[in-house]
Amino acid sequence: AKPVVAVVGRPNVGKSTIFNRIIGDRLSIVEDKPGITRDRIYGQAEWRDIPFHIIDTGGIEISDEYILKSIRAQAELAIEEADVIVFMVDGKAGITPSDSEVAELLFKSRKPVVLAVNKVDNIKRMDDIYEFYSLGFGDPIAISGAHGLGIGDLLDAVVEHF
Ligand code: GDP
Ligand code: MG
Repeated sequence: AKPVVAVVGRPNVGKSTIFNRIIGDRLSIVEDKPGITRDRIYGQAEWRDIPFHIIDTGGIEISDEYILKSIRAQAELAIEEADVIVFMVDGKAGITPSDSEVAELLFKSRKPVVLAVNKVDNIKRMDDIYEFYSLGFGDPIAISGAHGLGIGDLLDAVVEHF
């Protein structure tokens, strides 16, 4: 079976932006049940001739009061299904309590985690990634979904765990 990669993180960090860049037009299944926090979107992808499935967790809008509950549910599902987890955070925002919540869940899993710091839109913003070492997932990988930067480095780190 193809390996499964899940993109996990609090809302608005750029998960769907990166997911769309990685899959191109190879969207396979869309689960669209408004109000249900377990919705996920699946896509097909390939990197260095290695095919894999990728899941965009949190594919729906959720209201603030349910954010923590929703993130937890999504992260738990992703942990179950994934072979490798991409933990995405926002380099402009820095570490938030929701990020720490996700980090705690991912720690408890035995799944490999690759930490991606999104919204590092230019090289002058590289200093923004250092605080993310404190999350404890090793070297953060700087990416920009908006500008398509760092995606190859991210995928190199992901396929190393297959
Ligand atoms: P999700 O909720 O984690 O799926 O995040 P989205 O992919 O929907 O992105 C949330 C917001 O961040 C959108 O307004 C995106 O345009 C913006 N965004 C995504 N990636 C980047 C990036 O690399 N740089 C900047 N500046 N904004 C980004
Ligand atoms: Mg999204």
